[in-house]
This record gives sequence, structure tokens and C-alpha cells, in this order.
Amino acid sequence: MHEMGIAQELVRIALESIPEDIDNPKVEKLNLKIGKLAAVVEHSLTFCFEIITKDTPLEGAVLDITEVPVGIRCKGCNRQWEVDQPAFQCPNCQEAEVEMISGREIEIISIELAE
Ligand SMILES: [Zn+2]
Repeated sequence: MHEMGIAQELVRIALESIPEDIDNPKVEKLNLKIGKLAAVVEHSLTFCFEIITKDTPLEGAVLDITEVPVGIRCKGCNRQWEVDQPAFQCPNCQEAEVEMISGREIEIISIELAE
């Protein structure tokens, strides 16, 4: 279950980004961006997150996950498109030199603190 490692990394980044001058900070929500190919099981991630955030400013925070589609770019004609699965050929010029430009990311977009 690699979600535990991901949860730990997210918690580390989130804790670091809380401004130091706030007393008893409490995080309400973490907005995340997760690529379709990152192979993250949402409920596993939420489960791990709940375990490791006990007694931290992140306890009880909601994970709001936006799924990022797989983005492909053709090196021949520069066309960009989105797919459900990795693609290896451009539908426009049939060029096989394509690269994946999104779909594997796991990122924190923003952190919402309680007032
Ligand atoms: Zn092309």
C-alpha cells in the first residue's frame, strides 16, 4: 500500500506550509491534485491520512481530491490531447514520438486553515 508513503509526504509538506505565527493552527481542508496514472486509491489515502494526522494540526482535515486526466503531447505536430490510458501515437499526424505531460502528479494545490 503506497498510499501511506504518499500520505506521510503530504502531511510533511502541509505542516511545513502552515505559517509559524498562527497559534494552535487547525487545517480544515487539503486540496489535492492527483493524476489518473498515479495509482492512488482514494479511500486508502484518506484512511492513512486519518491515522497519521492524529494529534496534529491536520487532524480531521478533509482531503479534496481533483483527478487530473492523462495529458499527451505529440513531438511532431505539438498537438495536445487527453486520454484515459497512455497513448503512444498521435491521432493527428500518426507520429509515434509522444510524451506524457500530465497524469502522474500528486500535488497539494492549497491548504485551508480554520479561522
Ligand atoms: Zn502529431
